[in-house]
Amino acid sequence: MTELLLDLPKVELHCHLEGSMSAATVKELASRHRPDWSHVWSGDIPDHFSFTDFPDFGRQYLFGLSLLRDSEDLAIVTDDLAATLAAQNVAYVELTSTAYSHLHVGGMAREVYRDGLDEGRRRAAARGVHVSWVIDIPRDLEMPDQTDTIDYLESGLTPDGLVGIGLGGYEVGFPAEPYAEHFARARALGLHSVPHAGETEGADSVRQAVDALGAERLGHGVRVLEDPELTERVADAGILCEVCPTSNALLGVVDTIEDHPLARMIDSGLRVSINTDDPGWFDTDLMTELSIATTLGIDADTHLRMQRDALAASYASSPVRRRIAEELDAYERAHS
Ligand SMILES: [Zn+2]
Repeated sequence: MTELLLDLPKVELHCHLEGSMSAATVKELASRHRPDWSHVWSGDIPDHFSFTDFPDFGRQYLFGLSLLRDSEDLAIVTDDLAATLAAQNVAYVELTSTAYSHLHVGGMAREVYRDGLDEGRRRAAARGVHVSWVIDIPRDLEMPDQTDTIDYLESGLTPDGLVGIGLGGYEVGFPAEPYAEHFARARALGLHSVPHAGETEGADSVRQAVDALGAERLGHGVRVLEDPELTERVADAGILCEVCPTSNALLGVVDTIEDHPLARMIDSGLRVSINTDDPGWFDTDLMTELSIATTLGIDADTHLRMQRDALAASYASSPVRRRIAEELDAYERAHS
């Protein structure tokens, strides 16, 4: 199965640039900037990341973020991720970046941010990995009365290949509905609506994402299953759920990975794809997540169908979409 999965042309829709930094990348950036990390780790930066609880995760995540200071840093992170994606036969990725963290918190100039993402995207393309961008509003940092992210999106100083607006961060206590106006403005720019919902909150969060934000895909969406009627609605509308098994287990959305409702989601008629979320910090990659899906009952035909569904629900350009569809057809012929 592993060889089959490696051979399978792949599409990833839910991966955070700022969460993708591997330990090797963090070390590379640390050697550029020589920061102090004694508040995060005693001794050297570890070879693999792990964390004991959410605050521990938060400390490491913020340290990684603090290393993204200029265009070259952003290009390095994108390119390092692209190298691992290329090795796993991932042809297309939609990467989410939280502009707010860099522009508002980090004080980076809009042009510097844009240039870094553009250069990273060029380097990824040279490796055969096509990147599109989603820029998200961090709901637990940027309150609904703030307009930093949407103002930035409207400024035009955005990267090439920008296709969507997301809503990230902790759902509990930060509902989606108050961001309806932000999403309306982003959609008026031609951006697609791909908020997180149904991860740390239940079905009502999904309902708000669909009704108030016009969600075309759901980041996670696993907890939509708590409401059978809404599940049917999401399934009928063809709204794809971007499922991230390891992330769900590490952040307590499911008790253990064995409890993950992936198979139940598919049986309920939901369209799903498999994703990594924060591959660096969760020390995972797409091959690992696909292998986990196999242990959760996903067979080879369903793996192929999930890749076709991910491609159909992606915002890849027509030539990229055509090429990957042909690769998937060739894979099917070779393995049937
Ligand atoms: Zn996410």
